[in-house]
Amino acid sequence: MKRIIASMLLSLNLLTFSSNFTPVDLEEDIKCDTEMSYDIKMKQDILTIMMAYPDYIIGIEKGNEGVYFITAKDEKIIYDDMQVKNSEQKMNNADIQDILEEPYPLEMPIGLADVNSDPGRYRCYSLLNSVYGKSEYEVSSNLVGVYAPYNKYQFNKNNGAAEALEGAMKELKGLAASNGKVGELIGSINGTFNYRVISGTGKLSPHAYGIAIDIASNPSDYWKWSTREAGEKRVLYYPEELVKTFEKYNFVWGGKWGHFDTLHFEYRPEILIKAKYFSEPIGESEQWYKQVPLNENIQEYINIIEGELG
Ligand SMILES: [Zn+2]
Repeated sequence: MKRIIASMLLSLNLLTFSSNFTPVDLEEDIKCDTEMSYDIKMKQDILTIMMAYPDYIIGIEKGNEGVYFITAKDEKIIYDDMQVKNSEQKMNNADIQDILEEPYPLEMPIGLADVNSDPGRYRCYSLLNSVYGKSEYEVSSNLVGVYAPYNKYQFNKNNGAAEALEGAMKELKGLAASNGKVGELIGSINGTFNYRVISGTGKLSPHAYGIAIDIASNPSDYWKWSTREAGEKRVLYYPEELVKTFEKYNFVWGGKWGHFDTLHFEYRPEILIKAKYFSEPIGESEQWYKQVPLNENIQEYINIIEGELG
């Protein structure tokens, strides 16, 4: 930070007093700006993860290769591997910075998202493995039955996932009494836990971790089997109160992805926390956590972050 302020003052001096201002100085200014916003974004992302996985992420550590999260099992998960990835590479090997990069919109869509806009669709497998289980056996031992809403379905009990599904389903059952579409969509659940890979990839589906639910299915639900036109119709059919209820309980909706998966809701507290508290840009003189409701735990996370990163 000191270095950045020094470089800003230097640039200011050059602008004010120097007549031989060159594009090189301008480049330095731009670089300095990017560095600052990267630093702020990194702190916000780290706080987001600590808030989203409170019992599983217990600290951070700054090493030569970058910043790592320390898990309760004493594993290290890198924040940013600094690799530039295309969307396929992000599907296979996203780090924390990748999964939080694209803002997840809290408003209802007015059409299908752009083909390559997939907020909340990338997953960090080292995080999922650590929190929900590394193998079919380990995940299975963390599953509990949840009424969704009429039959019992298996969901992962870790990090509050099963509890969140139960809460969402209770509310949706209530809403179904006055909204026929809600009743129809949650009336025939397609499935939750299923130890399988994502079609066309070698990577595990979030269903394999027991953190995703597919509600009533329709032929136009999935980007691979449907035209975009039919997919858009299906997305727009979904009632706002259903989507909002899932999001309130920290589920992202596949209907907001360019690679749409409309019946799919996935428990991803980090995506919703980031959307709620870090969607507004922060000015240079403002506190980077100014939108977060402070309590003792969150203050402690901020102290850890400031202590390690300055
Ligand atoms: Zn699904």
